[in-house]
Amino acid sequence: MANIKKSYSHIGILSAMPEEVGIILDNLESVSSVKFGDLELFSGKFVLDNSREILLTIGWSGWGKVSSARATTRLLTSGLNSTPIDLLIFTGVAGAVDPKLKMWDIILADSLIQHDMDARPIFDRFVIPALNNKKIIPNMDLIDKTFNQLNKKLSHLKLSKFGNLHKGLIATGDMFVSNTTKLHQLSKDISGLYAVEMEGAAFAQVAFQEKVKWLVLRIISDGANESASSDFDNFLTEYKSYSFELIRCLLNVLA
Ligand code: SAH
Repeated sequence: MANIKKSYSHIGILSAMPEEVGIILDNLESVSSVKFGDLELFSGKFVLDNSREILLTIGWSGWGKVSSARATTRLLTSGLNSTPIDLLIFTGVAGAVDPKLKMWDIILADSLIQHDMDARPIFDRFVIPALNNKKIIPNMDLIDKTFNQLNKKLSHLKLSKFGNLHKGLIATGDMFVSNTTKLHQLSKDISGLYAVEMEGAAFAQVAFQEKVKWLVLRIISDGANESASSDFDNFLTEYKSYSFELIRCLLNVLA
């Protein structure tokens, strides 16, 4: 059975924007990079708290499903380092749908849906034709263990800025959700929805189809309502100095 204790040796990390993942670069050793058109990927060694070294390959995809799917595919086949990527992570910010989520709360996806996928009448609404399924589900053993260990570590490390860690359903679509009508509609149409963003489910679909383990970890930056755009901008400015703290914590949990 899949086990988090299996030591990952090469982890791929993507985000949409450099603010969400960029600072990892300063913490990598022996960095090499490759360009695919306007997408640049970086790879190097990262030293964990227990002194073990792992390989990380990182990049920022840009916003939206096409960009994230493209970057995921490129990441998996970049040729940077001969060791294959054995775990893929997408991280970044998201808008809250469930009112219990507050800014700076963290959400680990236990499933993702593409809220703008609609191939009716051939398939039910939200069904992704390639998967014949609405939800993309990660390896739950990995998610449960990551959740439990990250929870312990977060409280232990007292990462003051971050709020509570949640596990739940994230919906992805090519839309910045910034009005209450849309927010309520999504919440009504998709039961148990926690948060919305623009890349996770496309990333997850590629990882799933490529048969590579994956997880999506998001931080709440706004309430997907009328003030989302300004909340988002203010949040991002502050978030970029904290994002690495969380990623480092996650990497140590996974290793
Ligand atoms: N401030 C910008 C919006 C950026 S949204 C503007 O108003 O033009 C883009 C990024 O943040 C995406 O990568 C998406 O995944 C994430 N995100 C954060 N909050 C979101 C929301 N409410 N709806 C959709 N995506 C959101």
